[in-house]
Amino acid sequence: MNTVSFADLKLAPELLRALTESGYTTPTPVQAQAIPVVLEGHDLMAGAQTGTGKTAAFALPLLQKLLPHASSSTSPARHPVRALILVPTRELAVQVEESVRAYAKHTNLRSLVVYGGVDIKTQTPHLKTGVEVLVATPGRLLDHIEQKTVLLNQVQVLVLDEADRMLDMGFMPALKRILALLPRQRQSLMFSATFSNEIKKLSEDFMNYPTLIEVARSNASAENITQKVYLVQQSDKHQLLAQILRGDDAKQVIVFTKTKLTASRLAKQLQREGVSADAIHGDKTQLERMQALDAFKQGKVAVLIATDVAARGLDIDHLPMVINYEIPHAAEDYVHRIGRTGRAGASGTAISLVSPEEERYLADIEKLIKTEIKKEKAALPEHAARPPRAPRAEQPERSHEYHRPAPSKPHHDPWFDKPYVPSISAPAVPVKKHEEPAPVKPKAQIPALFMRKPS
Ligand code: AMP
Repeated sequence: MNTVSFADLKLAPELLRALTESGYTTPTPVQAQAIPVVLEGHDLMAGAQTGTGKTAAFALPLLQKLLPHASSSTSPARHPVRALILVPTRELAVQVEESVRAYAKHTNLRSLVVYGGVDIKTQTPHLKTGVEVLVATPGRLLDHIEQKTVLLNQVQVLVLDEADRMLDMGFMPALKRILALLPRQRQSLMFSATFSNEIKKLSEDFMNYPTLIEVARSNASAENITQKVYLVQQSDKHQLLAQILRGDDAKQVIVFTKTKLTASRLAKQLQREGVSADAIHGDKTQLERMQALDAFKQGKVAVLIATDVAARGLDIDHLPMVINYEIPHAAEDYVHRIGRTGRAGASGTAISLVSPEEERYLADIEKLIKTEIKKEKAALPEHAARPPRAPRAEQPERSHEYHRPAPSKPHHDPWFDKPYVPSISAPAVPVKKHEEPAPVKPKAQIPALFMRKPS
């Protein structure tokens, strides 16, 4: 049980005030572990994903470190970019910046978000007024760098948020270019849901003796998320979905599909059936996506159909239910998807509609989360009208923000692939750079790279 308070973490009064106003009473485990490490100036590598409170875990100490530079001056020169937060998607960028702004509301620190898909010219004037905290997607940041609308030579703190996702989306070349432009003397923080070999390599390349912290992969193993699988023919899925959506516990639901086309079609079909549904995916404009999200958050739309890319990082308070209309082929996406519900200790339900063709992907998911999900045969009334099958040519949606060079390769060090288990509660200690993982590891052992020093 975590009994630390935000005040115990020695946060400044102006930040504590903002937290009280946000309704936060107690730090989450990742906050309790990360905030002291960052305040002490260490680099940090954190195994934590959305839903754990990771945004505040880096945003609060980062703001505190910048407080001495807070200035009420209107001169842009007094507001250089001092903290850079890189995130994989626009939605996450917007949400992270909203959080930063909320926590900084009683300070003179400024924040701004820049992302692709909107006219770059609209962002430039804001950048020119000067901001201390810049939240950006890598591709758009490079555009600004090329146009010389942003300078990064005073960055003191760099955050890579959802680093695994950024690599999956092919951002490695962009990250390398950006990292090369930052001052060497800086603090680097990395948050990632998984630690693949690629992530490990990235951390070796750009971090300095990072302290490792990890929090339970709560979304995969959380007791507060009830996971359920309905075994159903692909052609019966629509009918089953409609049946579930008529249930009392389906007041606000995100439905995941693999393709943009299925998302659109499903939304239209449900609308015709009188369900207030909307779709978000990469073919919608940024404005349309924001509007759909706002309507959903305000409860005007009950069902939001989303692809993985569009839903990445979505933060909807108290979302009670997630439905996988199609299960993802990458098992980790399942964890990200169901992590939209059951946040900050609330309870949630994650239902997956699994056709016979998808059962092998389900097996991968169960292996990853080390849990056998309860399965039921779908009970559907007979003579139901069946919607047509999805055309074969549909492809899962990929981000268009940046070229994806190759599909992610299987990881070779199985330790880095396994789901998080609650970590040792001892305080985290810095780890040595360039140490190799121990060659043979008993099940619960931490590899040498992350080995804690005996205290
Ligand atoms: P994140 O993992 O940063 O996406 O946060 C997930 C959700 O938890 C967001 O809605 C946050 O506003 C909320 N949250 C973060 N920290 C706390 C806290 N200490 N107490 C209550 N809610 C929190």
